[in-house]
Amino acid sequence: MFDKILIANRGEIALRVLRACRELGIQTVAVHSTADADAMHVRLADESVCIGPPPARDSYLNIPAIVSACEITGAEAVHPGYGFLSENAKFAEILTEHGIKFIGPSAENIRTMGDKIEAKRTAKALGIPVVPGSDGGVSNVDEGKRIAREIGYPVIIKATAGGGGRGMKVARNDAEMENALSTAQTEAKAAFGNEEVYIEKYLVLPRHIEIQVLGDGQGNAVHLGERDCSLQRRHQKIWEEAHSPALNSAQRDQIGARVAKAMADLSYEGVGTIEFLYENGEFYFIEMNTRLQVEHPVTEMITGLDLVQEQIRVASGAKLQYAQSDITFAGHAIECRINAENAKTFVPSPGRVDAVHFPGGLGVRVDSALYAGYRIPPYYDSLIGKLIVFGKTRTECMMRLKRAMGEFVIEGVETTIPLFQRLLTEPDIIDGHYDIHWLENYLARDA
Ligand code: ADP
Repeated sequence: MFDKILIANRGEIALRVLRACRELGIQTVAVHSTADADAMHVRLADESVCIGPPPARDSYLNIPAIVSACEITGAEAVHPGYGFLSENAKFAEILTEHGIKFIGPSAENIRTMGDKIEAKRTAKALGIPVVPGSDGGVSNVDEGKRIAREIGYPVIIKATAGGGGRGMKVARNDAEMENALSTAQTEAKAAFGNEEVYIEKYLVLPRHIEIQVLGDGQGNAVHLGERDCSLQRRHQKIWEEAHSPALNSAQRDQIGARVAKAMADLSYEGVGTIEFLYENGEFYFIEMNTRLQVEHPVTEMITGLDLVQEQIRVASGAKLQYAQSDITFAGHAIECRINAENAKTFVPSPGRVDAVHFPGGLGVRVDSALYAGYRIPPYYDSLIGKLIVFGKTRTECMMRLKRAMGEFVIEGVETTIPLFQRLLTEPDIIDGHYDIHWLENYLARDA
């Protein structure tokens, strides 16, 4: 096992990783930008190193500074959290060259899955069902129209290097294709530095259901069930639950087993998520995330496993401690992502947090790095906390979530808590009847 781990991230996830390390008796090194000198993850870590000025490209994405921080502190491994360098194959390679363990899959697996076209090809070859679409990149409108007619409109144009729900365009007919393709290419170039796009059948009323996997890189892998992340704004998740209100246990076992086998065949190491759209009883692979996800706590709540500790264990060379039959699911869990944003306009609201009170009680978990007097810097993602609630049944979970949300106090900045309070009174949400467009439609009606 490692003696010291450097956490290459900030905010709630840095704290989450730190907590796992502490329970395993591992020393922690926090890194931070000058804007984060007073952050909770820095205060709680055993050691900390400033790695640059506020912009992420100069600090949290600054590979030489992070490698130096490892060397100065003697950290043996790096946990990348999510976002930032967590899916950067080059970073994983550079660490390996310096004799530092990257806590995550091999650079090769990251690279394959990070290229969305390559990921789809790989998934298909491993026997995972995929969304019908172009076999590779599409560079001109005529080719786009031909493929769209083949698979049938509507289609969605997506960036090969995409992520974070950005750079996607829907085309409903040839006329829309004319603009959509070039807009998608321009946006992809600007956001990801790579203009390559591909085309997929646009599913009209799907749910977003993803399967959590854990592998040891030695040919063993298990699945930890699914999460339903259909409630999204601008293709970004705001609410995740496990289990999905739409699946039964036979469906779960079937798709889960298929995915776990695929990951075992890949000799996949660490945690990963295979994302699907689910419509009319069918699963369609859209992408794989080769890292820990924001919504991992809902899986922890229903399996009782600590996913970060599992990541660290397999990274240290341990074999998987579980066979699929050892994994059991109990109860229901829901996570709400709370952002420092206006709950109607979604305009970010950084600034000083004057007062904080987290809800508590049975089945309530808050993952957050906030404290009273903390200044939320304007430079990073506006996620400031996650409320995760567990109940024996979905009904109990919803009642508890409503109760806990009512106890949450954050003063001084605007937050999205009022949005969740409204959602918790909506019959469709109470009944679990929603698809990936539900929230956008609701917000449009509400405006
Ligand atoms: P990103 O990597 O940017 O998150 P994904 O491929 O995971 O992109 O897609 C994000 C979201 O976009 C999905 O959860 C879904 O809401 C929507 N989406 C993606 N592909 C399709 C599709 N083929 N049909 C309908 N919606 C889609």
